[in-house]
Amino acid sequence: MLNDQGRPTAPVRNGDDSDTRGTFTGNRALAQEEALIFEIGRVGTTGVDIEEPTAFAPRLGGLARQDGIGLPGLSEPEAVRHYVRLSQQNYGIDTGLFPLGSCTMKHNPRLNEALARLPGFADIHPLQPLSTVQGALALFDELSRWLRELTGAEAIALPPKAGAHGEFCGMAAIKAAIAARGEAATRTVVLVPDSAHGTNPATAALLGFSVRPVPARADGTVDAAAVAAALGPDVAAIMLTNPNTCGLFERDVRAIAHAVHEAGAFFYCDGANFNAIMGKVRPMDLGVDAMHLNLHKTFSTPHGGGGPGAGPVALSGRLAAFAPLPYLKQDGETFTLVEDEASAREAGAAPLGRLTAFHGQAGVFVRALAFMLSHGADGLRQASEDAVLNANYIRASLGNLMSVAFDRPTMHEVLFDDAWLKGTGVTTLDFAKALIDEGYHPMTVYFPLVVHGAMLVEPTESESKASLDLFIATLRDLAHSALAGETERFTGAPHYAPRSRLDETRAARQPVLRWAPPP
Ligand SMILES: *Cc1c(COP(=O)(O)O)cnc(C)c1O
Repeated sequence: MLNDQGRPTAPVRNGDDSDTRGTFTGNRALAQEEALIFEIGRVGTTGVDIEEPTAFAPRLGGLARQDGIGLPGLSEPEAVRHYVRLSQQNYGIDTGLFPLGSCTMKHNPRLNEALARLPGFADIHPLQPLSTVQGALALFDELSRWLRELTGAEAIALPPKAGAHGEFCGMAAIKAAIAARGEAATRTVVLVPDSAHGTNPATAALLGFSVRPVPARADGTVDAAAVAAALGPDVAAIMLTNPNTCGLFERDVRAIAHAVHEAGAFFYCDGANFNAIMGKVRPMDLGVDAMHLNLHKTFSTPHGGGGPGAGPVALSGRLAAFAPLPYLKQDGETFTLVEDEASAREAGAAPLGRLTAFHGQAGVFVRALAFMLSHGADGLRQASEDAVLNANYIRASLGNLMSVAFDRPTMHEVLFDDAWLKGTGVTTLDFAKALIDEGYHPMTVYFPLVVHGAMLVEPTESESKASLDLFIATLRDLAHSALAGETERFTGAPHYAPRSRLDETRAARQPVLRWAPPP
């Protein structure tokens, strides 16, 4: 049925006055409902008043459109209201604390935005003659220099456009290095600890490797002995996250790296959690061969919803030659891009190929370098220290009410499980949804999978103590409610959001992505 395809965007009026949803308009005080643009726009209406072109002979031939295009038209004030209302329904880091673990949702300094909008960066095109974009290339080079300094890497591959894309790049470099050794047919397995981000096994599988899981120890870290037991002549690499997704530093990381190298394999480190160790540890000193950095997490940049991101990869001396095309080359004062395989090979490199049309996500590069330069080396180190301090403050302030999964100081994020909710009738999901009613985006829930009913909280360094104290007080209030059996606060929450509890399973399994006009 056609109208089944419509999304429930029309105001909900259930006529029950006791329900806050029962306003005539569906609005809640000054929070406005907003329908889809197709529902409010009218074909034939346009926001601009320009004259019909005269003496105009279309040159489209048989390709000329026969019917109207059916786009909804709005006047300018209607269009402005539509998008402003939508923007107000979007919770972001500029709205409030965003404790989503494993995401590093930190404040995005406006200085970065101002610099990224400079015409010399914003208005250039990758196909311009290189002589006209020397400044931008110099910025890429300076960014690489900072990333090499922070990671201890031999080379930085700039092209990847997200963390997962960086994983692909780093693992493709490892695959190329293994093929160059003539071991492509035998080294086909990648070790992935149970606590890994889902992108790790996905990356390995995408590159044709099979995944061998490594169990976590009871303390949430990976056991060097378990890694040694899983290693063999068939293993190409391990993909390890450090600090791991439980927010814990892998204490045996050097022993793991040693065992991996002894077995002839490579060490890929998922560097998405670099915010905990930036300026404190150079991952390559721990034996890492390849590691992506999520510039959009660690070095700020508005992110979420799929972009924009940048996932440059730090490569050790063993992998640098396999970096993807294009890469920067400096001749005296002049920067060029090595674009083709032949000239790369002439220079002794063995590039793994090309990952994107151009050289990467330039706007994010500008923001990341602005973040680095404005913090300085000492400031970056302090950002890590403050991120870790903030996470531990939350852990210490809630640990006597909510059960922490691992009872030891944490890195930049703190992991709770649902043991403390046992018998209350409140689940992790209910608890997270009730947080929405209090005006907070929920923490990450049910991830990592190694913990039952996980709640992963990452405050980042950019929250003040006052902000953390209010967040902690809110969680404590909710926790007391849950423990007192006040299930009505949780079941079906959020109660005050424009939409209450959705059937997320059905939404994921039977997504309705098309709107069709009602019959
Ligand atoms: C965010 C994240 C990724 C993936 O990064 P994207 O930029 O979202 O592709 C990978 N691993 C970990 C641990 C992460 O937190």
